Amino acid sequence: PAAGITIRGLEVVYTTGQGQIPAVNGINLDIVGGQITGIIGESGSGKSTLAMAMMNAVPHPGKIVKGSVIIDGVGNMMTLDKESQRRARGRHVGFVFQAAQNSLNPLTRIGHQVLDLGRSHNVKDLRALLRRAKELLERMGMDADRVLTSYQHELSGGMRQRVGIMFALVLDAQIVILDEPTTALDMLSQASVLEIVRSIQEERGLTIILITHDMGVVADLADRVIVMYGGELAEEGKTEDVLAHPQHPYTRGLIRAIPRISGNLDQAVALAGSPPDLQTFVQNACLFYDRCPERMAQCQNHRPPYEIAGPGRKVACFKVMAK
Ligand code: ATP
Ligand code: MG
Repeated sequence: PAAGITIRGLEVVYTTGQGQIPAVNGINLDIVGGQITGIIGESGSGKSTLAMAMMNAVPHPGKIVKGSVIIDGVGNMMTLDKESQRRARGRHVGFVFQAAQNSLNPLTRIGHQVLDLGRSHNVKDLRALLRRAKELLERMGMDADRVLTSYQHELSGGMRQRVGIMFALVLDAQIVILDEPTTALDMLSQASVLEIVRSIQEERGLTIILITHDMGVVADLADRVIVMYGGELAEEGKTEDVLAHPQHPYTRGLIRAIPRISGNLDQAVALAGSPPDLQTFVQNACLFYDRCPERMAQCQNHRPPYEIAGPGRKVACFKVMAK
């Protein structure tokens, strides 16, 4: 079976001059192997922090303060020695972190960077690796020879994003994390690049974690969807279940905000209000309390637990649990 990820009690805090921000607050999550899992939520909900924590690669001033991330075939990223962690990143888990356009090395040609990556992971057949890079770039509609001999500054934002996806896939990692991988592409190229990611996923039985703001992308591509809010999980389930029967009022709001699914552009309703300020938010209230059209008295004084709400389904909402 394809490799999955088991996350338990994960907590990440950013320490700033103004105080502590619990960006990932006690998350328990099983990433199912061989599927595309979409992670969705508004800006600041903690999606990128969660993704980086899965690789034990949260940058300063962030710190993983608790929890475990067990990657099948690798082990617990929190307790493995540094060298095993390094080997796992790239080899077992490919990734494109957000704003990866900027993480390419400006001083070496893309082709050289592919070779450097191969060497750093002891790849024996570097020619085959380059061929594979070429094939991936061509599949994404690029002139591969030109890209491989280019420096990053010679490529557009959209091209760099596709190069980032190539790097995530070129070492044949079983798990691939893509954080907003196509934001610099126009709608049409975005759809086609994601379609290619989907077909590569099917060919190789990959486990993909796809982070996006866009519920429409999730609807098109993901087998499962995880909804994040304020550093916690609000809801998860099979995409079709969640879209057809969203249970958390926040998920309902997100779905109503997408024209593509509600069908009609003028029927799309933006979510009112803004996400909680994590620095000051009280721990014993529902994170969605201020914005919730269905809030009840208890929601102001208790944080709803994240509980099973059907097969493969979880939700953090008192209203749902009361039914
Ligand atoms: P987006 O959709 O905008 O990418 P996100 O869901 O990926 O948002 P994160 O970037 O993980 O959210 O941020 C989660 C929280 O952590 C936010 O409140 C953010 O302000 C805070 N945060 C993220 N990076 C830092 C940092 N380097 N220093 C301080 N706080 C940070
Ligand atoms: Mg992000």
